[in-house]
Amino acid sequence: MIVVKDLYKSFKEVQVLKEITAEVAEGEVVVVIGPSGSGKSTFLRCLNLLETPTSGKITINGEDITAPRFNPLKLRSEVGMVFQHFHLFPHMTALENVIYAPKKVRNMDKKAARDYGTELLAKVGLGDKAHEYPNRLSGGQKQRVAIARALGMKPSVMLFDEPTSALDPEMVKEVLDVMKDLAKTGMTMVIVTHEMGFAREVADRVIFMDEGRLVEEGEPTSFFAAPGSKRAKEFLQKVL
Ligand code: ADP
Ligand code: MG
Repeated sequence: MIVVKDLYKSFKEVQVLKEITAEVAEGEVVVVIGPSGSGKSTFLRCLNLLETPTSGKITINGEDITAPRFNPLKLRSEVGMVFQHFHLFPHMTALENVIYAPKKVRNMDKKAARDYGTELLAKVGLGDKAHEYPNRLSGGQKQRVAIARALGMKPSVMLFDEPTSALDPEMVKEVLDVMKDLAKTGMTMVIVTHEMGFAREVADRVIFMDEGRLVEEGEPTSFFAAPGSKRAKEFLQKVL
């Protein structure tokens, strides 16, 4: 579903991603780990063109998104993204946050949009919070609204950039549980996280990045038990 070939990304003269080649199959859950500053966020942001790759090729669902004439707006309904800091619209209720984009893009009438949004919120366990504003929701609830909102466009891929890193510890599980449920539905997911337990349990594959490179990838059980590279070993010793 996602094919990345020789991806490079530089900011001014600083090379942040180097020679990244990777594939994600339909329905696969890939967790990306690595030290801070290793390029994980930039990699994810290249996958939905929030950053423009300097060179290399990315295809999603067979379409070359790095082709010069590709319209990035096409990706907004194809690839959903969830950020560390939620990025909800503060002046909209949970329901309004969730239905804003689908209503616009799909030309839904009011009632259909409301039903659709309520169903999405129920899916993330927030059926009773539809009319709350973000400032009245906990961090975990906000992040679940953000997930529902991303799902609203019926994406074929969901990207998560440290979705639980800004949460109080007691709220991490409720968000990871929603992600786990989503994985069970067969959603294709690429997740940057420091939650190694989650990676072990839910990921089909782990990708380890360091200094802008994809250093190693593998099936989680073998990767965590015996990483092949010295850099992955050192990283795991620090975080496990
Ligand atoms: P990670 O998510 O693994 O912590 P990032 O992808 O955020 O890493 O960052 C990788 C490197 O790229 C860091 O050195 C960071 O400072 C740099 N970087 C990220 N975004 C920008 C930007 N917009 N402009 C300049 N440098 C950036
Ligand atoms: Mg990051």
